[in-house]
Amino acid sequence: MSGRSTESIRPLSSATCELCHIRKPSLRRPKTGQKICQPCFFHVFETEIHNTITSANLFFRGERVAIGASGGKDSTVLAHVLKVLNERYDYGVGFVLLSIDEGIKGYRDDSLKTVKRNKDQYAMPLEIVSYKELYDDWSMDDIVAQIGNRNNCTYCGVFRRQALDRGAQKLGIKHVVTGHNADDMAETVLMNLLRGDTARLDRCTEIVTQSTDSPVKRSKPLKYAYEKEIVLYAHYKKLDYFSTECVYSPEAFRGTARALIKNLETVRPSAIIDIIRSGETFTLERKRGTVATKLGTCERCGYISSNRICKACVLLEGLNAGRAAVQVNGSEYEPHEGAALHKRLEHLSF
Ligand code: SF4
Ligand code: ZN
Repeated sequence: MSGRSTESIRPLSSATCELCHIRKPSLRRPKTGQKICQPCFFHVFETEIHNTITSANLFFRGERVAIGASGGKDSTVLAHVLKVLNERYDYGVGFVLLSIDEGIKGYRDDSLKTVKRNKDQYAMPLEIVSYKELYDDWSMDDIVAQIGNRNNCTYCGVFRRQALDRGAQKLGIKHVVTGHNADDMAETVLMNLLRGDTARLDRCTEIVTQSTDSPVKRSKPLKYAYEKEIVLYAHYKKLDYFSTECVYSPEAFRGTARALIKNLETVRPSAIIDIIRSGETFTLERKRGTVATKLGTCERCGYISSNRICKACVLLEGLNAGRAAVQVNGSEYEPHEGAALHKRLEHLSF
């Protein structure tokens, strides 16, 4: 459990809840500062997610949707709330838990145990796809052992994206929902702004995304849910989730953006939502004459790709070449392979 929520759990002096005006308040709502009771907190938290879903027409009756489930707080709260809302408002959606096993000892092996319990708690089918089975027997632990502790998240991100697609396709599902929350989204807006990446800045606040090289659409029903409120909700509902961070720390730039968001939130709680709203309303000047991406299939794995070889196969090529060098030379990683791979990666946009 994160310590970030403790100030919100402190007993409050106001006489009655600012929403129902009946019960005693038991928390200060992080998003608005209102002193409210627990039932009202559950109600506003769930209703806001329901409003996000309905105003974006995220689901249709009879649709089967995969929940990208990591066992962490965000995806566990997402699965729980979607189950509640599906029953309360009769969405008529069939939810399935879809987990990716990156092969990270001390992290993913334990969090997958949580997802397996969630499968029974939420009565949802569970599908697990692993990097090892998809990517020439490479786990993230193997990858980090070869490339070191830098750029590991780049590999992991490319592989996870394709793994989620492949898992969904295996299930005959075309829609994956993920647990990205408002803090994550504000962080991404800031990062794209600071990097001058206007193409991504343009897209990163969209609730539904479908890239040209993926047959599966993604959506983020928690895009307006504050991380602090997700933690509070999981705490009060006593949800079973796994709270340890990945043993391979995220890239420094994202960590810095995250710290900046947290600092801004302490002086101005609405900063998170304000950054998202700014991102949503930016009008970006588009370059003329942009060539439409031509879609094809990867020559190696046959997966949909806008390049001759898909991103995952480019990365695999470098890894396999390194593994061959290790096998030939005993223990040495072939440096040229790294340089050549880097050159090829520069031509790809992640
Ligand atoms: Fe993968 Fe990086 Fe996330 Fe760990 S922190 S799961 S290596 S993307
Ligand atoms: Zn109340």
